[in-house]
Amino acid sequence: MKRILVTGGAGFLGSHLCEKLLNDGHEVLCIDNFYTGRRSNIIEFLSNPSFEVLRHDICFPLYVEVDEIYNLACPASPIHYQFDPVQTTKTSVHGSINMLGLAKRIKAKIFQASTSEVYGDPIVHPQPESYWGNVNPIGTRSCYDEGKRCAETLFFDYYRQNKLRIKVARIFNTYGPKMHINDGRVVSNFILQALRGEDITVFGDGSQTRSFCYVDDMIDGFLRFMDTPDDFTGPVNLGNPSEFTILELAEKIIKLTKTHSRIVYKPLPEDDPQQRQPDIDLARKALKWKPKVILDDGLKDTVAYFKTLLSSSFKPSVQRKRFKG
Ligand code: NAD
Ligand code: UDP
Repeated sequence: MKRILVTGGAGFLGSHLCEKLLNDGHEVLCIDNFYTGRRSNIIEFLSNPSFEVLRHDICFPLYVEVDEIYNLACPASPIHYQFDPVQTTKTSVHGSINMLGLAKRIKAKIFQASTSEVYGDPIVHPQPESYWGNVNPIGTRSCYDEGKRCAETLFFDYYRQNKLRIKVARIFNTYGPKMHINDGRVVSNFILQALRGEDITVFGDGSQTRSFCYVDDMIDGFLRFMDTPDDFTGPVNLGNPSEFTILELAEKIIKLTKTHSRIVYKPLPEDDPQQRQPDIDLARKALKWKPKVILDDGLKDTVAYFKTLLSSSFKPSVQRKRFKG
């Protein structure tokens, strides 16, 4: 049994990770400033004596004793990370410095939730880890992309300079239950629009592609990566290589939900990547990992989750107000 710190533990991926670690018999300390995370994501763990939660912003130093750290804290949806871009960069940069400093002091192994966004609007397709990317340093997505790139630099400098045990994962679009109702990312947006009978908002002409990974596969990848030998640092791509256009995704969700919603086209956001597909050869070999859940099955579970959420007493307007402080 290990003592494990999960930053961003009340968020979408973080709460699934906490659940898996608890089920595997570990002690979990969840740190979150509840910027996009929710108490409801972790409420079921609060009665578990192996689970602890602390409201804390990782931009400030933290003094705790643990064996491993998963650094997931950072808003991940474009609308959320662009809402307060300076705080987004601080979270990736100051937050990583604080968590790396902590890992150095207590000699903990540390995992970084990096992103496919380090490849920007990629010219190489699919994207292998060796690709350096095509990133705009001054655009509206840069707070996230460059913040995460700088975080990777910090991880590798702490590795070289301080012999820290690091694990850097480049996560590609992941979806599933426990996504925030106002998350704003494409899968949750389309499902909610379909369930509410609203127009489905395809940005641009919908020909841009993404490759969607179900959350359970992603969490399995995290744990396998953390268990690899210390000389395997990554970066390693984690994602599902099945690639779809955004229009194909919209059509799938319309079919699945049997909605009468129609597709409407909206302007493409600035610097929206035209294509994205992970090359997962490294993860296959080093982690013996590949995603198992196909998009249709994962979408079914996610639709069921949002149906329950919409039929419960959950009040999205209250959540939105809280998010904007
Ligand atoms: P999320 O927004 O649901 O979770 C992020 C969590 O971090 C939230 O609980 C939020 O309150 C918390 N947080 C934000 N800033 C913080 C701070 N300064 N201090 C403490 N807590 C803070 O997003 P997610 O999808 O669960 O993403 C988790 C991580 O994985 C992020 O680092 C994200 O960049 C990375 N990632 C996710 C995806 C994806 O598709 N889900 C893809 C690539 C990378
Ligand atoms: N998108 C869309 N409609 C929406 C939300 C997103 O067409 O309501 C598109 C967006 O322009 C992008 C893709 O879906 O091309 C994925 O967007 P998301 O915000 O989920 O994540 P990204 O991969 O861009 O970070």
